[in-house]
Amino acid sequence: MNVHVQPAQPGDAARAFLDRADKQILIGGAWRDASDKGRFETFDPANGAFLARLAQATETDVDDAVAAARAAFESDAWRGMTPSSRGKLLWRIADLIDRHADELAELEVLDQGKPLKTARLGEIPASADQFRYFAGYANKILGSTIPTSIAHQPAGRKIFAYTSREPIGVVAAITPWNSPLLMAAMKLAPALAAGCTVVLKPAEETSLTALRLGEILVEAGLPAGVVNILTGLGETVGAALTAHPGVDKVAFTGSTEVGKLIVGAARGNLKKLTLELGGKSPAIVLPDAEMELAVPGIARGIFANAGQVCVAGSRVYAHRSVCNRLVEGLVKEARALRLGHGLHADTDLGPLVSTGQAARVAAYVADGSAEGAEIVSGGVQDGAFFTPTVVTGATASMRMMREEIFGPVVAVTPFDTVDEALSLANDTPYGLAASVWTRDLSAAHLTAARIRAGTVWINCHSYFSPELPKGGHKQSGWGYENGAQGLENYLETKTVCALL
Ligand code: NAD
Repeated sequence: MNVHVQPAQPGDAARAFLDRADKQILIGGAWRDASDKGRFETFDPANGAFLARLAQATETDVDDAVAAARAAFESDAWRGMTPSSRGKLLWRIADLIDRHADELAELEVLDQGKPLKTARLGEIPASADQFRYFAGYANKILGSTIPTSIAHQPAGRKIFAYTSREPIGVVAAITPWNSPLLMAAMKLAPALAAGCTVVLKPAEETSLTALRLGEILVEAGLPAGVVNILTGLGETVGAALTAHPGVDKVAFTGSTEVGKLIVGAARGNLKKLTLELGGKSPAIVLPDAEMELAVPGIARGIFANAGQVCVAGSRVYAHRSVCNRLVEGLVKEARALRLGHGLHADTDLGPLVSTGQAARVAAYVADGSAEGAEIVSGGVQDGAFFTPTVVTGATASMRMMREEIFGPVVAVTPFDTVDEALSLANDTPYGLAASVWTRDLSAAHLTAARIRAGTVWINCHSYFSPELPKGGHKQSGWGYENGAQGLENYLETKTVCALL
């Protein structure tokens, strides 16, 4: 594999952030070391270069951060802030993300590996958009008055009943490594709009943009303790947060496996949970599909971010009449992608987040091959890089077809009838997303209706927007992010019923 891994130099701002000092955690508005001064390091996955030393938070830090979030939740500075001011604050955060977008994008590329264009044109502006979208909700959180049917009222008296919407309280937000800033923004923006306070724990592999966001939140004027940021390990910091009696809700994005651990950990005080988990998303290509759209769309749906996307279309079911054409097209697309360090302007595909993750992907492909699948293109690992891979002949029972690979690997399977395609597509414990490719409007919607998934795209894949609710059916999660439903996850309803 010929990969250009030496980075183009990041700009001055990103360099200055990396050079500033060892990174600290944010608790109660102040940056500080971990209670035991513990540290861990973060590296550029493309070439293993050292990036920064981070504080490794402890359980004591978790206690302190939760206490700070609780104090902020009860404080006049936050509770007494008008909804309109809260909205303006969110908007200011969005403006600051935009102002520092180059720096944030470069930090994301260095830490996670993704191509600069993905970060700079996609995820960083999308993070700002999250704050702007939910800024608009801050002063539109409404209850209602409710006519009741209560029969036995004293003569001459009346019932007056209404609901009010209240913030849930202290939220633990735990995020994965694939789209670090965006995943954090998708939790912070609705939580803050609702009036909650937050302890954010970013993934240990990719914490840099969360820390830079912490500086932005302070600069924007967020009251101390409203957002606290703890870097550190999932099995310590994450586990302590999800079991902590002072946390009211956990907003988690990550693997289904860890999601199940969180369900167990949260039972002590019956925390509210939203879980955005893994996927094994199918794309169904009907015989009349517009192939000029389907081939690049499906390729992007699996190869973008080196396949480290929860909704990646990793299983493609193509009608037998178009299957060969589709495979040829995907192979062509895969071979055209330029692998390299994400900071090079011409890179289409960066490394995976780590050499370990690339090895995990390689193991899935090797397993599939040993079980009889044919690797038509790709399948090569070099450090953290993995070539975009197209596989045929994989059967439903193979491990590579049942488990989430989280890498740039797509398996294409032919079908003869739509019933057969749907039965294959739905044969998975996951239910995150799917796409249907056809020119036939009725077939598109009828097929979409029969797919068990939280999002179905028609003639596109991986299209996101803050307005569009996003969540998993089956074992892909509980609850939704984005849209009005995304805000609901951070609110409780209080019913007040009065005899007047
Ligand atoms: P992961 O589950 O390993 O880790 C996610 C986060 O959980 C990290 O911050 C980690 O430190 C923390 N964690 C680990 N163990 C924990 C524990 N015992 N208790 C509490 N927290 C713990 O996931 P990952 O490997 O970082 O990310 C990849 C996964 O995320 C994939 O499965 C992907 O599908 C999923 N994902 C889902 C969505 C979605 O919206 N559904 C979006 C992006 C990623």
